[in-house]
Amino acid sequence: MKTKISAKTGHFIDDQAIADVLAKSHAPASSEVLEILAKARELHGLSMADVATLSLVTDPGLLEELFHAARFVKESIYGRRMVLFAPLYISNLCANECLYCAFRAKNTAIKRRALNQEEIARETEILINQGHKRILVVAGEAYPENKGLQYILDSIATIYKVKSGNGEIRRVNANLAPLPVEEFRLLKEAKIGTFQIFQETYHRPTYAQMHQAGKKRDFDWRVTGMDRAMEGGVDDVGIGILFGLYDWRYEVLAMLQHIAHLEDVFGVGPHTISVPRMEPATGSNISINPPHPVNDDDFRKIVAIFRLAVPYTGIIMSTRESAQMRAETFALGVSQISAGSRTNPGGYSTEEDPMDSSQFSLGDHRPIDEVVLDLIHLGYIPSFCTGCYRLGRTGADFMDMAKPGLIKSHCDPNGVSTFLEYLLDYASPQTRKEGMELADKIVLTMPPLARERAEKQAALVKAGKRDVYC
Ligand code: SAM
Ligand code: SF4
Repeated sequence: MKTKISAKTGHFIDDQAIADVLAKSHAPASSEVLEILAKARELHGLSMADVATLSLVTDPGLLEELFHAARFVKESIYGRRMVLFAPLYISNLCANECLYCAFRAKNTAIKRRALNQEEIARETEILINQGHKRILVVAGEAYPENKGLQYILDSIATIYKVKSGNGEIRRVNANLAPLPVEEFRLLKEAKIGTFQIFQETYHRPTYAQMHQAGKKRDFDWRVTGMDRAMEGGVDDVGIGILFGLYDWRYEVLAMLQHIAHLEDVFGVGPHTISVPRMEPATGSNISINPPHPVNDDDFRKIVAIFRLAVPYTGIIMSTRESAQMRAETFALGVSQISAGSRTNPGGYSTEEDPMDSSQFSLGDHRPIDEVVLDLIHLGYIPSFCTGCYRLGRTGADFMDMAKPGLIKSHCDPNGVSTFLEYLLDYASPQTRKEGMELADKIVLTMPPLARERAEKQAALVKAGKRDVYC
């Protein structure tokens, strides 16, 4: 019987169990790796011991096998879809002192700004006119004029209210500080999509060292944030690790413990995992010299391992990474990406030097149309779908459909219809031409039910109807 009561401490992060698994793992024999990969191809996920073993693979031939398996799982579950979104930084005020972040309270090297509702509406309009349908609201942990959560609730309402041309934002996600259960309930009423909290590091001593002041110092409050979100009815939650703070092998295993805890108590794990790598931030020495930097080879391996270990959880890749690294990890498991991002409040409507008020520097500066064209060249369908959330297929309901493979007959047609909306309303002529050709080709490869729905929805969009989903 599931209790569904939030944990008060991070007791589910069991250092000893992680140390035991890591101590037992050794440079694995190829037969052992191949056996684990065969298991992963059954799409039921992997144990901590399996993941620890895979994390030690260095042999180039075996690594290629690992990547093949990740590609197989990615294609089996997500097909050729890639979901796009844009972050909207509404405020860089913050009372915390996270040593890696430009927004930390004592950093005097950046300009502080909290957008008012008119400014938020203006930024939203710009994003709508670029073709976005999903926004991720981001803010530091201090709200203007002591408005508290009301500032966030007002901002979400503002974003949903803006209409421009044929477009509007259809799903607002958020990456904010953890909240009490009652406030999560208010966010649910405000129609929040996914709520993200990155633990940064699951390693308590490193966490204490990196978070020097403010409420974020409380490891237990943060690590139990997703429990409270679930208890408050926000059942699409996103978790993440800031890679570079501590040993990545430890972090990946600890995150699996976090996921197991959520599945155990609430019957569903996270909707998404984010894998930010530390990027240089103004006024942060740690961000320039992270204590445990993750190199590109290990980074690809991390994405592939997550894809195999938690096959039904989306993996998000932000514009922290270069276009090249993003493209490589699409094949290995990434299912959602940001595009055309700015990490400074007001960044879409001002021309100021972004480093003056940005959170960190970006690796991929391309506008959305270039990102979309690149996806087309790679054979992916850029999707702006918000169907599941709109129809209440969230949390356990989503997973119940995803695990037996039922969700594809919704995702594929919705991917195509939202892609067509983008092409017809926002794309450059070249992107439109190449995209229409790809969409027509991909529909023909879909299984019968998905194809029937996709053809019907595509015809409606081409005839001028918008917001068509199943
Ligand atoms: N203030 C809230 C918090 O800390 O949870 C939410 C927003 S915070 C701006 C979003 C995330 O940015 C953090 O969780 C952290 O992982 C990431 N971040 C901070 N500094 C970074 C850096 N230098 N490079 C990459 N990501 C960074
Ligand atoms: Fe503030 Fe979040 Fe940056 Fe920490 S990571 S300083 S809490 S904005």
